[in-house]
Order: sequence, then structure tokens, then C-alpha cells
Amino acid sequence: MFQKILIANRGEIALRVLRACKELGIQTVVVHSTADADAMHVRLADESVCIGPPPSRDSYLNIHQIVAACEITGADAVHPGYGFLSENAKFADILAAHNITFIGPSGDHIRIMGDKIEAKRTAKRLGIPVVPGSDGAVTDEKEARRIAGEIGYPVIIKASAGGGGRGMKVAHTEADLEVALQTARSEAGAAFGDDAVYIEKYLEKPRHIEVQVFGDGFGRGVHFGERDCSLQRRHQKVWEEAPSPALNAEERARIGGVCAKAIADLGYSGAGTIEFLYENGEFYFIEMNTRLQVEHPVTEAITGIDLVHEQIRVASGGGLSVKQEDIKFNGHAIECRINAEDPRTFTPSPGTISHFHTPGGLGIRVDSGVYSGYKIPPYYDSLIGKLIVHGRNRVECMMRLRRALDEFVVDGIKTTLPLFRDLVGNADIANGDYDIHWLEKYLAKEE
Ligand code: ADP
Repeated sequence: MFQKILIANRGEIALRVLRACKELGIQTVVVHSTADADAMHVRLADESVCIGPPPSRDSYLNIHQIVAACEITGADAVHPGYGFLSENAKFADILAAHNITFIGPSGDHIRIMGDKIEAKRTAKRLGIPVVPGSDGAVTDEKEARRIAGEIGYPVIIKASAGGGGRGMKVAHTEADLEVALQTARSEAGAAFGDDAVYIEKYLEKPRHIEVQVFGDGFGRGVHFGERDCSLQRRHQKVWEEAPSPALNAEERARIGGVCAKAIADLGYSGAGTIEFLYENGEFYFIEMNTRLQVEHPVTEAITGIDLVHEQIRVASGGGLSVKQEDIKFNGHAIECRINAEDPRTFTPSPGTISHFHTPGGLGIRVDSGVYSGYKIPPYYDSLIGKLIVHGRNRVECMMRLRRALDEFVVDGIKTTLPLFRDLVGNADIANGDYDIHWLEKYLAKEE
């Protein structure tokens, strides 16, 4: 087992990983920018190293500073959290070259899944169902027209290097195709430095359902069930739940089995998430994330298994603590992402939190790095905490969520808490009857 883990992240996820390390008796080092000197994870870590000024590229994305911090402190492993360097293959390779363990998959697996065209090709080869579309990059309009004609309109043009929902354009008819292709390519080039794009069938009313998988490092793969993340705004997840209200036990076991086998065949090691769109009983692969997800706690709630413990075990060569047959699903869990944003316009609302009070009681978990008197720096994303609620079934979970939201107090800044208080009383949400467009339509109506 590792002696000392360096946590290369900030905010709630840095604290989340730190807690797992403490439970496992592993020493912790955190790195932070000058803007985060007062952060909770910095206060609670055994050691901390300031690695640079506020902008991420000069601190949390600065590979050389992070490697130097490992060497100074003698850390033998790095947990990257999510975002920042968590899906950076070069970072994984550089750590390996320094004999420091990257708590995540190999650089090669990160590279394959980071290129969406290559990821889709690999998924197809592994027997995972994919969205119909082009086999590779599409450059000229003639080819685009031919493929779109074959799969039928509407189609979506997506950046191979894409992420965060950027570089995607929908074409409803052949007349839209040329402009969509050009815009997607120039946006992809500007955002990612790579203008390769591909085409796939645009699904009109899908749900976003993702499967949590793990490779144990010895060639075996398991799945921890699915999460439904269909409630999104601008392709950003807002509310996540497990299990999906849309799946039955047979579908869950089937897609879980396909994913677990694919992970084993790939020789993948560590945590991963295979994301699908789901429509009319069919799953369509869209991408795989080779890291821990923001929404992992809903899976932890229904399985009772600490996924960060498992990541650390697998990376240290100790394998998983469970086999597929040990993973049982119990009850229902919902996560609300609480952002420091205006609940109507979603503009960021940084500033000082004058008062912070979190709900408690059975089935409640709050993952947050903030506290009363904490000043939210304006440089990073606006997630200030996650409320995760567990109940024996979805109805109990929703009742508990409603009262937990009533108890939650964040004063001094605007947050998205009022949005969740609205959602929890909505009939469609109560019935689990929503797709990936539901939230944006709802927000448009409220305006
Ligand atoms: P990113 O990596 O940028 O997040 P994804 O491929 O994961 O891109 O897609 C993000 C979101 O875009 C999905 O959750 C879904 O809402 C929408 N989307 C992607 N592909 C399609 C498609 N073929 N049809 C309909 N919506 C799609």
C-alpha cells in the first residue's frame, strides 16, 4: 500500500480523496494555488505545497510543479480527482517515468478514450453498442452528406477531441449540414487545437445513462450499476440518480455485463464510466471517462462501497475488495450539484459565504469543501457542494431530499439550491419522467 498520496486537485473532490486516504491510514499531501491557501483540504492535509498563482494553467495544470511537489514530499502516488489533469495521458506517463503511481488507468487507455473517434471504434470492437454514424473523421461536405443521408436526419457533428459539451452542432436537414460542419470544425479547432469531427445520428429524446466500471488490474472487470444523468443544462449534469428510473433489472444486468466484459477485454485498470444515450430500450455509447466522476457518490450510496478506496487499492496492486457477485444494489440515491450561481441566469456568484449550514439525518451526505466565512475564489468552477440523499426506494429518497433541501442554508452568495427546491416538487421529476432536454425546456418555460 502507498505511504503517501499527493492530491492534485481542489474543492470538494480534494477533500473527498483526503478522507479516503485518512481512512486507509495513508499520509496526504495537497497542492494548491495561492487562491486556495485557506481551503478546507489544505487545512486538513498532513502536508501542503503551494504550486503557483490562481490561474489553473500555472498551478493545478502545471505538471512540473506537481512532480516537484511529489519529489520534495516523497509522495509515492498521485490522485488526480476529476477535471484538471485527471484525463491527461502525458501526466500519467511522466509520473510513471518518475516511479510515482498515477491513481488511474494507463496513459495509453486515457489516450484512446480521450480521442472520441478512437474511443468509439474501440467500444464497437469490444461489443459495446454505439450511435450509428461515420467510422472516422469527416472532412468534406460530400462525404458528410452521404453519411447523413445513410443514417437519416437529424445528425450531430461532434469534435473528436471534444469535452464539456463543446464543439457539437446539430443539422436537421441537408441544408443545415454545410454550416454545421464548418462551425463544428472551427469551434473544435479553436477550443481543442484539433479540428477533427465526426457525424452521428442525433437522438431526439434520449436519457443519459452511464455505467460505473472498474478494472481490477489483473484483467478482470466489474460494474457497479448505472447512474441516470439526464437532467442537464448546456450538456452539464445538474441532478444525478441511481438506479435509473427508466431501466429494469434485466436491462441493468445486460448493459452492466457488456461493460464489465469490455473493461476486462481492454485490460483496463481502475475506475471508469461508460456513457450512453438510451432511447426506446436501446443503449448507444457516446464516450468513456477514465476517471472518478463528480456523481460517483450516488453509486456509493446504493452499493455501500467506497469507490476511492477501490481506486487506491487497485492502483497499489491490491485488486478490488469485491467481486461482481458481492456488489448488491440497495435503495435509491439522488445527487444535487450545488453551484455558486444565480438559480435563474446561472451566472457565477463568487464571494464570501457568510453562513453555511448543511442538512443531516439518516441517508444524507454532503460533500463540500466550503464553510462559514469561506471566500469563493472567482478562478475555478462554481461547484460548492453536492447533496447526496439515499432512501429505501425512490419515493422515500425524494421525501428525504425535499426536507434536506429545506434545511440547507448558504448565505452571502447565490446558489442553485432554489432550483432543486422547485424540481423536487415537479410531477415529471416525481415520476422519473424526463429526458436530456427536459431541464432546458423547463427553465425556458419558467423565464
Ligand atoms: P462531451 O464529452 O463534450 O460531454 P458527449 O459525447 O459526452 O460530449 O455528449 C454530451 C451530451 O451531448 C450528451 O449527454 C447529450 O446530451 C448530447 N449528445 C451527444 N451526442 C448526442 C447524440 N448523438 N444525440 C443526441 N444528443 C447527443
